[in-house]
Amino acid sequence: MSILVWIEQNNGVAVASCWEVLAKAQELAAQMGSSAAALVIGDGVDAIAQEAIGYGAATVYTASSPALARYRLQPYAAVVEQALDAAGATLFLTNATLRGGSLAATVACQRGGGIAANASDLRVEGGKLVATRAIFSGNILADVAFESTLAVVSVRPRSFPMPEMGAGGGSAQALPVSIDESSIREKISDFRAADTGAVSLTDAKIIVSGGRGVAADPFKGFALVGELADVLGAAMGASRAAVDAGYIPYKHQVGQTGKTVKPDLYIAAGISGAIQHLAGMGNSKVIVAINKDRDAPIFGRATFGIVDDLFVVLPALTAEFKQRL
Ligand SMILES: Cc1cc2nc3c(=O)[nH]c(=O)nc-3n(C[C@H](O)[C@H](O)[C@H](O)COP(=O)(O)OP(=O)(O)OC[C@H]3O[C@@H](n4cnc5c(N)ncnc54)[C@H](O)[C@@H]3O)c2cc1C
Repeated sequence: MSILVWIEQNNGVAVASCWEVLAKAQELAAQMGSSAAALVIGDGVDAIAQEAIGYGAATVYTASSPALARYRLQPYAAVVEQALDAAGATLFLTNATLRGGSLAATVACQRGGGIAANASDLRVEGGKLVATRAIFSGNILADVAFESTLAVVSVRPRSFPMPEMGAGGGSAQALPVSIDESSIREKISDFRAADTGAVSLTDAKIIVSGGRGVAADPFKGFALVGELADVLGAAMGASRAAVDAGYIPYKHQVGQTGKTVKPDLYIAAGISGAIQHLAGMGNSKVIVAINKDRDAPIFGRATFGIVDDLFVVLPALTAEFKQRL
């Protein structure tokens, strides 16, 4: 089973979770006596191809063209099909971001492949690939095996450890690209980045999150969360209850239907610790919970717990960290 891993990039910068997937692909390939190749699509992708080699890809297929500068499903899926043929791959892996998820689904449809979306584990059992994914609101973990010739899996970011960059001994191979712009239905007329300068939630080493516990004064509550995050150089997260209430945009949501995170430190303020929230942050190294209710489930998972009002605790922590850092 040869493996092809799509390396997602934005403005010439690879999305870090792809390296986790690439490392897992190498492990699977070693177990199956096959190989794992990477695919980088964009406009001028040599630097990312070298990075992929550094992360151990034996072969990196590249497709470079101004028409591929930004992600567009139709031409990207066509390039993936081309790369699958070039690599003779029967397993296609992406990271389960919005783009990775849509690319995986489209390629699976176009090729009649079987798909396991949002997988949290991948392994070889009896010589066959098995993917684990959460179903029924995360209450059941299902193991998925494949009967199709092509297996496609999108992998939740932070499911596997980030590999170390090495010297690498692989090589890059450019795919011939011929794109008829007039046949592409998706046109990008403008591109505006949101939140420039803010720490990315999925890559953050420290996250400070707020929940419905801020309800007494949501504006002030999230301002306090933000102030602590600023002092710690952390990203801001939130529970779904806080997002649904409109306290903070969806992109900050952590959990089963939000982002999966694995920071060194996760501070949860006014978050009860519902299973769907824990699904997204339960693997954080150190969890600090701030909650008025000493019986809140989050304390069952927290490394340290503070039973008190977040409107008192957050400013106190911010002041203390300001002094010490
Ligand atoms: C299919 C499905 C998917 C879901 N996906 C997600 C997801 O991705 N992410 C997610 O978070 N949830 C998700 N949920 C929702 C989840 O079940 C919970 O409803 C949600 O996590 C609760 O958010 P919360 O902890 O902020 O609110 P609550 O459960 O209402 O908890 C608020 C907490 O704040 C405490 N509190 C109140 N005032 C203060 C104060 N002043 N100081 C300190 N503490 C205080 C309370 O004691 C309480 O523990 C999902 C649910 C379903 C059914």
